[in-house]
Amino acid sequence: MSDNNPWTRTRKQLHIAARRFPIDPLLLARLENHDRIVEVSVPLKMDDGSVAVYQGFRVQHNNDRGPYKGGLRFHPNVDKDEVKALSFWMTMKNAVINIPFGGGKGGITINPKDLSHAELERLTKEFTRKLAPFIGPEVDAPGPDVGTNGEIMQWIREEYEKITGASAPAVTTGKPIKKGGSLGRTEATGLGGYYALLAILRMMKRKPEGLTVAIQGFGNVGSFLAEYLEEAGMRVVALSDSKGGIYIPSGIASMHEVQRCKEKTGKVSGCYCIGSVCDIGNIKELGGREISSEKLLELPVDILVPAALENALTKENAKRVKAGIILEMANGPTTAEADGVFKSKGITVIPDVLANSGGVAVSYFEWYQNMRGEHWSKKEVFKKLKEKMDSACEMVHDISLQYKVPLREAAYIRALQSLSAKTAGVKKNGSGKKRMK
Ligand code: NAD
Repeated sequence: MSDNNPWTRTRKQLHIAARRFPIDPLLLARLENHDRIVEVSVPLKMDDGSVAVYQGFRVQHNNDRGPYKGGLRFHPNVDKDEVKALSFWMTMKNAVINIPFGGGKGGITINPKDLSHAELERLTKEFTRKLAPFIGPEVDAPGPDVGTNGEIMQWIREEYEKITGASAPAVTTGKPIKKGGSLGRTEATGLGGYYALLAILRMMKRKPEGLTVAIQGFGNVGSFLAEYLEEAGMRVVALSDSKGGIYIPSGIASMHEVQRCKEKTGKVSGCYCIGSVCDIGNIKELGGREISSEKLLELPVDILVPAALENALTKENAKRVKAGIILEMANGPTTAEADGVFKSKGITVIPDVLANSGGVAVSYFEWYQNMRGEHWSKKEVFKKLKEKMDSACEMVHDISLQYKVPLREAAYIRALQSLSAKTAGVKKNGSGKKRMK
């Protein structure tokens, strides 16, 4: 299997960290394998009366630290190895950010844009019927990921409650606010990445003001992150999505306007804004140019942010990356070989399991509020999120100094320490199940 296979890569990453740390071979074996892989067919009646059958997965990697937790992805590239890797990363991530969840992930191999709204709802509810015996607030609570959103999480909750006959708001997270979602969840991953970047910059004794940034992927994560970076005085010079991107070396003036333009035109490309007028006609005046999503990765910037999908940074393009810092907002954007190149070039990689953990941190806050019938203000959520991100970054940074290893390896060591402590406790208590209070 190639380096681009994310599941092969996770095992390499696990073994690299495990070499540095005396890990129980039983725990290592359990982390190398999954607790359960649920593979289902999802038949769907289309609006025209025809029937299509899609393939769906829910992979439950490990629940030593609490219920399985991780997103559901609706995307044409979803396959078993991808979901296996993503669920493993969730176990690591939840341990690094120190929330009482294990790791899971799921998805359907489909392009949701090809479906009508009604078809998407029927597909989601059929998928929920297949998953219902395996999920639940204290068992496995899915959240949104690429191609899914709050409405889809609410459909899952509705169907699950219909099947079980009980109220279960915490069976999913990332729900709309009026349906039990947490304030601040939509912004959480981007904001968490921003907090992580500021924390690491502080430890590197670097000021954020004036640093240039290129962001690949202007969806939920990339767009919120871009706004926070802009507010902090950083200069976002390039943005892209699946249809291409824009590059303005002097800085993109208003993320908010670019966002509005993207909502209107369906793409970032061409969104050259002067005031509220965003048009390709402004390109010359702004000194900008159109750029492909691939070329964006090679721009001369201080900070590069892959915020789209896996395997954006490979052995082919890694040597052409000029950024000094890579903030991994996507899951698994860097192949193992690319990681090696970055290490040898002295590039600081803030790894996915740390950088994008703000999303699942606030998912945990949502789950916690749902379980206790509480409602926190956005200010409270953001304060708690910052505390979590700062403390995880400090911990990982300290380990990286102690073991003289890059941040990714340090994050894995941190996760393994935390999982080891948990399983040691499990042995003492004689039970593998976490009891919910
Ligand atoms: P999204 O669907 O909202 O946005 C994805 C963006 O990436 C879109 O703008 C899409 O056009 C773009 N894209 C797709 N292929 C591309 C390509 N080849 N080049 C450039 N852009 C491309 O998804 P999201 O929620 O923003 O998630 C983005 C990444 O962040 C994913 O890897 C996801 O797993 C990860 N992540 C998301 C969350 C979350 O809370 N949403 C949490 C943790 C990690």
